[in-house]
Amino acid sequence: MKIAFYSTKPYDKIWFEPLGKEYGFDIHFIEAACNEETVYMAKGYDAICIFVNDYVNADMIDALYEMKVKAILLRSAGYNHVNVKAAEDKLAVLRVPSYSPEAVAEFAMAMLLTINRWTHKAYNRTREFNMSLNGLMGMDLFEKTAGVVGTGKIGQAMIRIFNGFGMRVLCYDPYPIEGLDAEYVSLEELLGSCEVISLHCPLTEQTKHMINAKSIASMKNGVYLINTSRGGLIDTDALVEELLQKKFGGVGLDVYEEEEGLFYEDKSGQIITDDNLARLMTFPNVLVTSHMGFFTKEAMQAIARTTLENAYAVENGLPLINQVGKEMAL
Ligand code: NAD
Repeated sequence: MKIAFYSTKPYDKIWFEPLGKEYGFDIHFIEAACNEETVYMAKGYDAICIFVNDYVNADMIDALYEMKVKAILLRSAGYNHVNVKAAEDKLAVLRVPSYSPEAVAEFAMAMLLTINRWTHKAYNRTREFNMSLNGLMGMDLFEKTAGVVGTGKIGQAMIRIFNGFGMRVLCYDPYPIEGLDAEYVSLEELLGSCEVISLHCPLTEQTKHMINAKSIASMKNGVYLINTSRGGLIDTDALVEELLQKKFGGVGLDVYEEEEGLFYEDKSGQIITDDNLARLMTFPNVLVTSHMGFFTKEAMQAIARTTLENAYAVENGLPLINQVGKEMAL
């Protein structure tokens, strides 16, 4: 199988190169992102392999189909960047449904600990021998209430972590499951009752901007909000406005509505034209990271293995257990 591998970073090759050889795949590593301008590069390949800030819309599906590309291999669990409905009957779309939920949940906790205890500030201060503690006071997490929105794989890992810190855990999911060490409540109750809120649901038409001016108003003053899911869950205009109003104790954003083309790239020498992002960077109690919750050795290895198992299944006509079907279209 010949695979056009878009958005390649050096760390992708560590696992994909040797594993691809084991499978006998011919993987062509392309640095460019997959979009309307670069889709033509898939000509002559059996599959394309893409990451979260690539996209494939309906026109690109048609182009790929004409090029006889058979599959879109997603190196992610989320698939909101592919028009799954348009791909039906044309190309198989396969994802990595689970690699390391703990990687993302542990990162969400790292973000919370950072913004709550100001370690990002303390690091810079002590390097300049500013040993003052002024402005660095945090709050105990022990016995506080944490809210988990979305109790899928990552949400469940998050619940375990919050419980480990001795927190009371509330959760919300339209499809509740049994046996969790957390109490299901309505979304409204969760938003209004928690000192910490962590988002772990997918981006869909229903969840887009679920965190908006109205829902933020219903939260406790001084709340900590962590988003490691998808940027579109939060209305960034409303978030910035409420940050200015000093609503939040802190905000941790591993994802951002307009991250495409920005995250994963070194833009340090360029002028940033995104005013919301530039504004977010000015708040001392906001931590923005570049969609890296997944980024552990274990997760990367698992992503490579499942992605190439998916490719193997397509090549050999095996059941496509990780196919994203049209019924899953967002
Ligand atoms: P999952 O499919 O196991 O769980 C998602 C859960 O969200 C499900 O239980 C679902 O019922 C629930 N849900 C659906 N609609 C909802 C709504 N309106 N309100 C509340 N809950 C709702 O997915 P997962 O593996 O736990 O991943 C969760 C999200 O994390 C993914 O969708 C992806 O966007 C994000 N993610 C981020 C990173 C990162 O690096 N930051 C890595 C992997 C995944």
